[in-house]
Amino acid sequence: SKKAVLGPLVGAVDQGTSSTRFLVFNSKTAELLSHHQVEIKQEFPREGWVEQDPKEILHSVYECIEKTCEKLGQLNIDISNIKAIGVSNQRETTVVWDRITGEPLYNAVVWLDLRTQSTVESLSKRIPGNNNFVKSKTGLPLSTYFSAVKLRWLLDNVRKVQKAVEEKRALFGTIDSWLIWSLTGGVNGGVHCTDVTNASRTMLFNIHSLEWDKQLCEFFGIPMEILPNVRSSSEIYGLMKISHSLKAGALEGVPISGCLGDQSAALVGQMCFQIGQAKNTYGTGCFLLCNTGHKCVFSDHGLLTTVAYKLGRDKPVYYALEGSVAIAGAVIRWLRDNLGIIKTSEEIEKLAKEVGTSYGCYFVPAFSGLYAPYWEPSARGIICGLTQFTNKCHIAFAALEAVCFQTREILDAMNRDCGIPLSHLQVDGGMTSNKILMQLQADILYIPVVKPSMPETTALGAAMAAGAAEGVGVWSLEPEDLSAVTMERFEPQINAEESEIRYSTWKKAVMKSMGWVT
Ligand code: ADP
Repeated sequence: SKKAVLGPLVGAVDQGTSSTRFLVFNSKTAELLSHHQVEIKQEFPREGWVEQDPKEILHSVYECIEKTCEKLGQLNIDISNIKAIGVSNQRETTVVWDRITGEPLYNAVVWLDLRTQSTVESLSKRIPGNNNFVKSKTGLPLSTYFSAVKLRWLLDNVRKVQKAVEEKRALFGTIDSWLIWSLTGGVNGGVHCTDVTNASRTMLFNIHSLEWDKQLCEFFGIPMEILPNVRSSSEIYGLMKISHSLKAGALEGVPISGCLGDQSAALVGQMCFQIGQAKNTYGTGCFLLCNTGHKCVFSDHGLLTTVAYKLGRDKPVYYALEGSVAIAGAVIRWLRDNLGIIKTSEEIEKLAKEVGTSYGCYFVPAFSGLYAPYWEPSARGIICGLTQFTNKCHIAFAALEAVCFQTREILDAMNRDCGIPLSHLQVDGGMTSNKILMQLQADILYIPVVKPSMPETTALGAAMAAGAAEGVGVWSLEPEDLSAVTMERFEPQINAEESEIRYSTWKKAVMKSMGWVT
């Protein structure tokens, strides 16, 4: 059959907490040509623990690549047009593996995991100098959320990890490092690297010098030789070399040339290249990032300072202020998997629509404590305001509303830190296909919510970084390239007063969620 003629294509791996995707874009039009998605298991071996299997993650990537290539074949698109591959990933999630056998030495400890709470408490008692030691270097509060404490836990508790460190066989990485090492050959010469955005979430990385920080590594007791090399977000790290999987092997020799933590990738994919531009992504959690340019801005309102991107070895670094919410889509998954009131995530919309109100019910899904703006590890989830009238539809509505209220809290913090309130909110992520959620969000923020018609902005950002890399050069990062992108707008429809009343009741509920764990 005759193959269609196309411009150069770029692939992107989007490895999230809920699922893995592989997507292929046309570099000239940013059009999504084909993709495949696989859901990832989450294990909860004890209360507060969240793990994933690094090999399942890797194999889900192979499967997605394979299936996407098959679909492209059915569309008569020649996969030899794929000129580069970008990687975007769930951040902070921590893997240690053996570089000789290629085997992970423990499950991946997921960003949401709370097992390190006591580690955090004991570390916070011996912070050297002033309390600002960790924050001033990393932009992050000392919290269970970031990799350093997870890695500390693995070094303290897993004999296999200790032994591999002693024998100089251990490699540490966030999911990007694990995937890039594996995809570039693994035990046969895999490249052990990460990018500045992922590194900035480890709590071991100095966001000013853009290097691993010796003092931080000493403070956390991390041997520096197990850390990956830190590279920019857009450069050739290595070439695809997969022997395991025949069809994924079709991409053999293609450069992996883009790497961004998922939230940075979405910022790039939404073209937020100017100071003050922001996006909010609704996935497992919810993350609002605002570009602050070349300047590190430190928050007075519970936001993080993080590396936004550095698109090339010789390109300048950009920073972002970030509002992180631990539980967003995860609350919908919980209603599906733990309560069973829905069979698929999409069904939540139908339930919520049936009632159109929570009828005074508030759901604070503080399953992993509260992140921004509170950083309150003692919080746990509550559902309150129940009456005999309350049914599962009200709870479904309250769950969606919770996501919107949490966004309102981080947006308020962002507006205070930046001084200039956002005039609208650019959104993306798996939950944004839910129209009730989007309308509620506009109502609760009282500003328009704007969503690109192509929702895969995280993957797009990784593809852009990969395609623009030196030595690849098939993607230009000029904004007019995406002028064809159409947007869907949601305008606020309730009055501001009603919105304020609901929001202040939410805050009362949040106060009640705190102090459950001592
Ligand atoms: P991640 O990047 O964290 O893996 P995604 O962006 O893929 O997450 O979004 C998946 C999350 O969104 C899941 O937690 C799922 O429960 C939720 N979700 C998916 N579709 C809907 C929907 N229609 N309504 C509400 N939540 C949804």
